[in-house]
Amino acid sequence: MAFRISEEEIRKRVQEIAEEINRDYEGKRPLLVGVLKGAFVFLADLVRYLRVPVKIDFLAVSSYGKHTESTGEVRLIKDLDHPIEGEDVIVVEDILDTGLTLSYIVRLLQDRKPASLKTVVLLDKPAKRKVPFKADYVGFEVPPVFLVGYGLDAYEMYRNLPYITELKAVEGEDG
Ligand code: 5GP
Ligand code: MG
Repeated sequence: MAFRISEEEIRKRVQEIAEEINRDYEGKRPLLVGVLKGAFVFLADLVRYLRVPVKIDFLAVSSYGKHTESTGEVRLIKDLDHPIEGEDVIVVEDILDTGLTLSYIVRLLQDRKPASLKTVVLLDKPAKRKVPFKADYVGFEVPPVFLVGYGLDAYEMYRNLPYITELKAVEGEDG
């Protein structure tokens, strides 16, 4: 049986994370930084459950290229539109795997002197970690298998699936 997280499970967990953020950031105006492209679905759902006033920006990095195994190399492809000095920044990422991407992003943003910097990931694969990294908010711990759906792609496909599943469960179905 392939690993799978249903649309309903995702919705419930995203609401719970939003409630934690609502509590933790009461009275603040956090800046959410979405990591393109994978986090776009999670970010879009998450912000609609937030009651604290938020600003949104995006950055894009590349670590995997076209492969399903990390190359260990992280490149900044698109930077933020605005400075973040003094901002309460929350980095929103789809999945934490080796930890290389988020460590890189946190180092990059920390240098710009935000008032605070936290990370939220929908999925965490602790078994695959190469550098130690703990996200402040985690949706689900997942097994070390390649997942697609809900923003996550394989060769740019499957981002639109409303649920999360193993690549092997959908491969061959539509191309
Ligand atoms: P890390 O740098 O932590 O190894 O990897 C984080 C990035 O790798 C994520 O933003 C995501 O783009 C990609 N990634 C890691 N695991 C998976 C997976 O199971 N499925 C997909 N589609 N991407 C993954
Ligand atoms: Mg990706």
